[in-house]
Amino acid sequence: MKLNIMGTDYEYTRDDLNNPDLAENDGCCLLFDKEIMIRKRQYLSGKSEKAKISREEHVIRHEVVHALAQETGVEYGDNEPLVDWIAHIIPYVNKAVDDIKKNEEEQNAHA
Ligand SMILES: [Zn+2]
Repeated sequence: MKLNIMGTDYEYTRDDLNNPDLAENDGCCLLFDKEIMIRKRQYLSGKSEKAKISREEHVIRHEVVHALAQETGVEYGDNEPLVDWIAHIIPYVNKAVDDIKKNEEEQNAHA
C-alpha cells in the first residue's frame, strides 16, 4: 500500500524471514527508496498473538518515525535509541490527548 508521510508517498510492504533488506531486523525504512518494510506478524518476537501485535505496532511506529525524520530534515533520524523512544511514547501521548479531549467534552456537556 501507499503511505503518505508528510506529502511524500512511501511504499508499505510486509515480508518474511528471507528478505535481505530486513536482515535480522523486524522492520526497515529505506529512506531514499521511500519504502517501509515490516516483517510479517507470525515471524515477529512474542509468544502470544497479543505480544506479536504489540511488537508489530511498535515496529511500524519506529519505521514511520524514521520516515518522518527524513521528510522533515531533522538530524536525529539515525539515532536509533531516540527513534525507538519516540516510537515507544507515541501511544502514551495519544492517550493523554484523548483523556484531555474526553474530559473537556464531558465538561462541555455539563456546562
Ligand atoms: Zn531504526
